[in-house]
Amino acid sequence: MKINQEMREIIRKGVRFKDIFGLEKVKEQVKSALFAGHHIILIGPPGVGKTTLALNIAKMLPETELYDCPFHCSVDNPQCEFCRAGKSHKIKVKGEERFVRVQGSPDLTEEDLFGDIDPKRALEYGPTSIKAFSPGKIFRANKKIFFFDEINRCPQKLQNTLLQVLAEKKATIGSFEIDIESDFIFIGTMNPQDKSTEPLSDVLLDRVDFIKVGYPESTELEYEIVINNGLKETEFDKKLANIMIELVREIREHPDVEKAPSVRASIALFNRAQANATLKVRKKVKWEDVKDSLVSVLAHRMALKPSVEFNTTPEDFLKRIVEAFWEKKKEKIGDAG
Ligand SMILES: [Zn+2]
Repeated sequence: MKINQEMREIIRKGVRFKDIFGLEKVKEQVKSALFAGHHIILIGPPGVGKTTLALNIAKMLPETELYDCPFHCSVDNPQCEFCRAGKSHKIKVKGEERFVRVQGSPDLTEEDLFGDIDPKRALEYGPTSIKAFSPGKIFRANKKIFFFDEINRCPQKLQNTLLQVLAEKKATIGSFEIDIESDFIFIGTMNPQDKSTEPLSDVLLDRVDFIKVGYPESTELEYEIVINNGLKETEFDKKLANIMIELVREIREHPDVEKAPSVRASIALFNRAQANATLKVRKKVKWEDVKDSLVSVLAHRMALKPSVEFNTTPEDFLKRIVEAFWEKKKEKIGDAG
């Protein structure tokens, strides 16, 4: 069965992305694109759950059978030399095993994705033998989710090597002129804040749907993410933790901020505040524990707009913000101050 058909049946039965808090509109868009059999690029800043979302999609996939050959051939369509010689075995894969990840970078090559001649095997089988070819990740992604993180960090030339396999669900092996099935769902990501990137090529854009993923919609949702991923070392009053998250969210939306601190920054602050309290032999986190870790956790995770960065540093900016925030919230913070 084609992976798109499999996915359509799952979505028709009604699915929830239970690893993701909030982002309801994103989930609706993802379901609709997957149902249509489209490839997806998730666009958003780091730390908003793009990888978790893609992994969650893989986890929804049922167990399937593949061959353990280097090409991970389908059991209903074994095509490679090893399978045809009866040298491969059926293996069961499910959930996260149906997830293949590639990290986009300017150095990533076509050989990394599609494979290359393996010198050891070339000596054994001869350089012109197909058996000398060591397949890349594209083939291992057969019947899986192919997750391409930060695809826009790759040169357009490399982006365009994906076109055939995205459209036809098969890839040609190097110079052998042999097509091997590679039937996957492509989920790419892009960070719009990343300046060191290439634009996506028009031909690739024409083969994917874009879905924007933003920060959690509310402080309450971000709190859920933070307590689910953070330390549970010291008592951290819910009200105080929410105020801490409000502070991060206020910095995130500040007009002078160009690169905003992520949800991971909120989690890091939550953990460091607990560490501070514990090291001071206190049983409960206080506001000063948050304040004392603020610069160390946030300053390098954010950037100010060029128009303001000449007058101030992120460190001074944070100190000013936190003082103003304290004035606004000190009554609410109360005893925990
Ligand atoms: Zn095979």
